[in-house]
Parts: sequence; C-alpha cells; structure tokens
Amino acid sequence: MVSRVIPVDPFDLVIFGGTGDLAQRKILPGLFRRYCSGQMPVDARIIGAARSEHDSAEYRAFAAQAIREFSGGRRCEDGTLDDFLNRLEYVTIDARGTDGWEQLASLMRDGVVRAFYFSVAPALFGDLAQRIHEHGMATEESRIVVEKPFGHDLASARALNRTLATHFDESQIYRIDHYLGKETVQNLMAVRFGNMLFEPLWNSQYVDHIQITVAETVGVGGRGEYYDKSGAMRDMMQNHLMQLLCLIAMEPPAKFDPDAVRDEKLKVIRALDPVLPHHIVRGQYGAQDGEHPSYREAVGNPRTRTESYIALKTHISNWRWAGTPFYLRTGKRLKARSSVINVLFKDTPHSIFGEEAGRHANLLTIRLQPNEGITLQVTIKEPGPGGMRLIDVPLDMTFSDALGPEEADFPDAYERLIMDVIRGNQTLFMRGDEVEAAWAWTDPIIAGWEARNDVPKPYDSGSAGPTDAEMLIQRDNRNWRGITP
Ligand code: NAP
Repeated sequence: MVSRVIPVDPFDLVIFGGTGDLAQRKILPGLFRRYCSGQMPVDARIIGAARSEHDSAEYRAFAAQAIREFSGGRRCEDGTLDDFLNRLEYVTIDARGTDGWEQLASLMRDGVVRAFYFSVAPALFGDLAQRIHEHGMATEESRIVVEKPFGHDLASARALNRTLATHFDESQIYRIDHYLGKETVQNLMAVRFGNMLFEPLWNSQYVDHIQITVAETVGVGGRGEYYDKSGAMRDMMQNHLMQLLCLIAMEPPAKFDPDAVRDEKLKVIRALDPVLPHHIVRGQYGAQDGEHPSYREAVGNPRTRTESYIALKTHISNWRWAGTPFYLRTGKRLKARSSVINVLFKDTPHSIFGEEAGRHANLLTIRLQPNEGITLQVTIKEPGPGGMRLIDVPLDMTFSDALGPEEADFPDAYERLIMDVIRGNQTLFMRGDEVEAAWAWTDPIIAGWEARNDVPKPYDSGSAGPTDAEMLIQRDNRNWRGITP
C-alpha cells in the first residue's frame, strides 16, 4: 500500500521564534520530513525570524543541526538536506520594535500562500499580529499560526481573540493543539463516522463510562517557572484532554468540514456540567530515589500549590450522554508515558452461560502514544475442552502491524498541521469560540481551588498518581485502566 503525497501550493512560511526550542525540535525537522516526502513544492520558502543576530548561512547551519538531532532518523536521497536548507532565510526582527520588519516585508512574494507561525511567548502574539498588518503583509493569502497557551483564563483568551481579530479574519487564524494532529486522533473520527459498527452503540445506553488518560513520565524540566503559573488544569486539561473529549463525544458532523466539526465540538463543551469539588483530585509529585527532584524543588517554590496531576469526573448533559461519566486524568512523573482513550461498554444484560462464565464487557481502546492503534476487546470461548469458559481477547489494530512500517511512519503532528495551514484547512485547529468555551468551563474550577486554598495531594514519582484519584473512580464501583507504555 503506497500512499500518494500531493504537494501543497507554493508558500512563504515565517517562523517567528525560529531559533527557539519548538522550532528546533519540531517545526524545522517536521518541515524537512515533509520536504523529503515530496509534499513541499520546490518554490516553498521558510524564513526564520528572531531577535538574535544571524545571517541566513548561520541559520541554515542551525537548522541542519536541529534536523540531524530531531528528525527521527529520516533518510533522504543525497543532497536533499542541502536542497531543503537552500529554502531557508533568516531575518533579525524584534516583535516589539521596528528592527527587521521592512526587510521581512520586502522578502514576501505575491501570489503564494503566506503563513506566519507565532512560535514565541504568548505575550508577543498581539505585537506580531499588529506589525504584520502595519507592514502590509496581511493579505488575503495570509494566515497566522498561534501556539499554546491561548490565554490564561477566559478574560485573557477573549482579549487575545479580540486583538487577533482586529488584524485577521477568523478564517486566517490557526490555533494549534498538536494533539489534534496525531494520526490516531483523526482515526478516532474515521472509526466513529466511517463504520456502521460503532455509532449505534455510541451513547449512554451502551457505554458505561469513558476514560481519557494523558500520562507523562517527565517532570516539569526546564519549564518550571512557566508551569508553576499554569498547572495541569491549564496546561493539559483545558486544551488537550478537552479536545479529545470533544472528538469522542461529539455528534456526527454533517460533513468533514472545519466549521461543521468545530460546531459539534463546541456543543460538547457547552453541554459539560460544572465539576463538583469532590469530583476532582489534584496532585503534586514527590522526589524519586534522590534521582529526580520533587515538583516543589523543580519549580523552586517550597510552598507552591500548583498541581502537576489532575483527575476529574464530568458529565455531558445531552441526550446522547446523560448518565455516562467521563473520567479524565493527566499528570507528570507518572509510571509510564501513555495517552489513551478507553470506551468501556456495559456488561451484557444477561449471561446465558451461567454465573461461572462471569460477566464480560467490550472495551475499545484508542492509543495515541506510544504504539498508536486501536484495540477492541471482545469475549470468546476459551479454546479447548472443559466447558464454556469465556475469556476476553483483543482485536488489535496496532497501525505499524496493520499497515506495515512504511505506511505507519506517520507525519508528526506538527508537520501534518503545518501542511494543513498551507492548504487552508482549519478542521484540526481550535476556533476562537471553542477556546473561550473551554476556559468558561475551567475558570470556575480554578477559582474554587483558590477560594478554598486547596492543596494538591502528594504522589510518588513513578506511581499512577495520588491514591485519592483511585478513590474518585472506585466510589463509583469502577477502576482506572492501568497506565502502561
Ligand atoms: P523559546 O525556546 O523560549 O523560544 C522563543 C523564541 O522567541 C526564540 O527564538 C527567541 O529568540 C524568540 N523571541 C523572544 N523574544 C522575541 C522578540 N521580542 N521578538 C522576536 N523574537 C523573539 O520558546 P519555545 O519553547 O520555542 O516556545 C515557543 C512557543 O511555543 C511558546 O508560545 C510556547 O508556549 C509554545 N510551545 C512550545 C512547546 C515546546 O515544546 N517548546 C510546546 C508547546 C507549545 P531571540 O531571543 O533571539 O529573540
């Protein structure tokens, strides 16, 4: 099976923050991979822009180093890297000053797509939008890509939306949530809406509950100062987990079109019940064998009350989901790196095989990382003589097994999303009203902690999180699925 790669239209892509960590680890290597795959047209151009003084030759050397280190060993024909690097330019620019803007404007070509990637601190998003506009670079073919975090709360997200809207139309604003660029996340929609099998069962009559887990083994690393002002609720729950929840719970859109999909996602967020205080557990990781610092040590704040873990139960008040709980959890320094959605179906109403055969329920597991794939657990007879004993076995579709290693060498989320920007497809990007609705749900939860001076529960690094999170689900006679790599 060989997939066809269709080149995108010619483009000028400006990466503001072109020397930063994200550009180095994701954006430049991702663009190189797309170049190798033949998706980038020969007349595409990439312009790095930041305050540091470099010329284009130095920037190419920087990009070559980043690609060698972070492009996942992608092999290309000889000379391809040099060809790719020849498409790179660099402009020294200050988002808040006047330096470099005239030069950048003079580099922009007419008649090609213009994309401006805001890979800088969010405080600069408004300045960049304003200057792009002032220097006449905001044409009809222009679009801006805005990194997370999009606001810190509802008020700041609204203010940012208003600022961007003074310079760009909503159809030109691409708010990135890289979770939406993951292959399995899109497959989730294909599985739900491309098969007759699941949709009739996709409701509270047949689904007992849904678990969404995004577990990381890393701590806050060098992001301590930023993270401590944010926490797991703002950094992960309000965006990544919320987006996954939307895709799993939304009604079928009439078509796979940006606004049709985003309208349905928005309805899910608006139908979310407020979360009761006893339906949330916050946690903070401790030190690990003297090897890794505790959360408090890592952020250099011995009294911090910011959470590095959160688990919560929520409900969606609509016809489809009334009565089906959604359990969401995410945290750092957990026992394995694993992003997984589990759809746990109800037990069969009656066992014709007698009590000793036990009750069995189907489980659909959607693995986002690692080992992207989908597994459906079904009940069969245990092979061999000895009566009718039942066992649960997985129907496993690990993509690398099912499709072969070549086909399963998916584009990384960033590279896919950047190509969507060039193609002008906003389906996998968050719309302004979606982001605001997500903050409107999140804000009262955070305000509640602040009003109660809530202190996160400690948990061991390398564990599954605080024991209170186990209680949260066990009170409902359910259990979390294991966190496994
Ligand atoms: P970073 O490593 O601190 O890089 C920031 C970049 O912005 C540098 O290239 C810096 O270069 C440039 N810059 C700073 N001030 C500037 C100014 N006044 N004018 C022009 N350029 C300026 O940050 P990052 O980790 O790459 O993150 C960039 C954005 O992506 C942030 O919004 C972050 O929240 C988001 N993000 C990052 C990651 C990640 O994995 N890194 C993940 C998700 C989201 P100079 O100092 O030379 O100007």
